[in-house]
Amino acid sequence: MTTSSAPSPTQRRARRDTSNHSSRSEAEGKQRVNDDLYDAVVVGAGFAGITAARDLVDRGRKVVVLEAGARIGGRTYARPFTGHEDRQAEFGGSWVNRELQPGVRREIARYGVAISEDVMPESAVFLTGGALRSFPVPARELADLERVLGHLRDASKRIAPSQRLTSQAIRDLDISVDEFFAPLNLGPATRDLVYTTIGWYTGADPREVSIFGTIAQTAGFGHSPYGFFGALTERFVGGAGVLLERMVEQSRLEIRLGHHVAQVEQHEDGVTVRTRDGQAVRARTCVMAAPTNVLRHIDFQPGLSADKAKPLAENHQGRAYKPTMLVRNVPRRPFAFGRGILSAICLGYELADGTSLLMGFGEQAKGRLDPTDREQVQAAVREYYPEAEVLAVDAHDWNTDPLFDGTYRIDRPGEAYDFIRAMNEPEGRVVFAGTDLDDSVWRIWIEGAVNSGYRAADTISLLLAR
Ligand SMILES: Cc1cc2nc3c(=O)[nH]c(=O)nc-3n(C[C@H](O)[C@H](O)[C@H](O)COP(=O)(O)OP(=O)(O)OC[C@H]3O[C@@H](n4cnc5c(N)ncnc54)[C@H](O)[C@@H]3O)c2cc1C
Repeated sequence: MTTSSAPSPTQRRARRDTSNHSSRSEAEGKQRVNDDLYDAVVVGAGFAGITAARDLVDRGRKVVVLEAGARIGGRTYARPFTGHEDRQAEFGGSWVNRELQPGVRREIARYGVAISEDVMPESAVFLTGGALRSFPVPARELADLERVLGHLRDASKRIAPSQRLTSQAIRDLDISVDEFFAPLNLGPATRDLVYTTIGWYTGADPREVSIFGTIAQTAGFGHSPYGFFGALTERFVGGAGVLLERMVEQSRLEIRLGHHVAQVEQHEDGVTVRTRDGQAVRARTCVMAAPTNVLRHIDFQPGLSADKAKPLAENHQGRAYKPTMLVRNVPRRPFAFGRGILSAICLGYELADGTSLLMGFGEQAKGRLDPTDREQVQAAVREYYPEAEVLAVDAHDWNTDPLFDGTYRIDRPGEAYDFIRAMNEPEGRVVFAGTDLDDSVWRIWIEGAVNSGYRAADTISLLLAR
C-alpha cells in the first residue's frame, strides 16, 4: 500500500511555508523568532484545532496553525483503496449523525459537503458465550439482556446530553465497568456482548476502564444503548477531510505543516511556541489541540498545574485497530461482533465484482495484531467467517504513530470526570482543545472535537478581549 496520497491545495501551500521558514532560519544561523505577532497560535490541525482557528479568523483574529504532520485532519485520515481507487479506506473518524450531533450538522450545512447513508446489515453473526450465533444471546439469557439495557439506560438518564458533563452531579458514575455491572450477575453471552461493546467503543480492555464515557455516550444516543450499533450511519463522501479542506480554504487559514511543537513558553504579554527544529512563533494566546496522549512530550513553561500534569504523565487506555479489508466469501452486507481478535466487522462498501470492502475494529488489549498484515487480519476475520478470503488490507497504526500514541482518550476508573474538568481550565494564555478533553457526551468523536474547538475559540476571544 502507498503511504501518501497526492497533496491537497492546503498541503501544497503549507509546504511552501515550511521551506521558506527553514531556509531563512539556516541563513541566520540561529533560532529565528517570527516578527509577526499573532492573536492566537493553534497547535494541531485536526477538527478541534481547525474549528477553533476558523472561528477566530471569522471574528477578525490573526491566527496561525502549526501541525507536526504532513497533512491536516489528524485522526480523520482516508486514502483511496489500492485497486479500487474510487473507494476510500478510512483509517480514523468516519461516521457521524447530523440529527444527534449539532456541531457536525452545522458544519456540514455551512460548507455543503456530501453525505452518504449506510445500508443496513442483512446478516449478523455474534461470537458470545463461546459460540457463534445469529442473535447475540441464547434464549435463557433474554432477561439478562433486558436488565443490562435497562441498567445502562437508567444511568444515562441522569445525564442531560445538551449540557456540559462537568456541570452535572454525575461524578459518582466514574467507576469501573465491573463495579457498574456486578449487581446484575450476567450470563456469559450477555456479559460478552456488553464487554465487547465497551471494548469496541473504547479500544481498551473493558475491565480497566471507567464506565463514565459509556454512560455519557448512551445519553448522547438519546438514552439508547442500541445507539452503539445503530446511531452513527452517515459518512462523508470522500472522507471527513473534505469538510476540513473546505473550512481551511474558505477561511484562508494559515497552516504550517511539518511544524512539530516542542515548547510553549508564556510571558507576561504573550506566548512563544517553539518547534523541534528551532522555529519560534509569537502570539498573544495559544490553543493546544494536539492529542492529550502526546502533551507530556511538550515542554510547558511555566509547567502545567498538577491536576493536568499528573493524568497527562501516563498513557491512556484507548488503543484500537481499524483495518479496511477487501474480502470475498462473506455473506451479503455482513455484520460480525464478539470476542474475536476483531471485536466488530462491518460493511464499508459493496463492490460491483461481488467483493466487499469491510472495516474491522479491534483492541490492542486483546493481543497484538498488525492491522496491515493481510494474513493476520484474515485469521481474525475467519473467527467469524471461516470461508472468508481477505485479498488486501490497508490501515494506519495509530498506536505506533508518535503524533497520536493511541486512538482516543479512555480513562481509568475515577479519572474521567476530573480529567475533563482540569483540561477545560485554561493555563494562563494557553487553552486546551480536542476530542480527548471535550466536556460533552460526544467526547472522543468528531463532534467532540468540533465542540471543543468552538469552546476554545470562545475562551480565547474572552482572553483577547481582556
Ligand atoms: C480508529 C478510529 C476510528 C474513529 N472512528 C470515528 C467515527 O467513526 N466517528 C467519529 O465521529 N469519530 C471517530 N473517531 C474519532 C475522531 O477521529 C476524533 O475524535 C477526531 O478526529 C479528533 O480530532 P482532534 O482535533 O481532537 O484531534 P486530532 O485529529 O488527533 O488532531 C490533533 C493534531 O495534532 C497534531 N500534533 C500532535 N502532536 C503535535 C505537536 N507536538 N505539534 C504540532 N502538532 C501536533 C497531530 O498530528 C494531529 O493532526 C475515530 C478515531 C480513530 C482513531
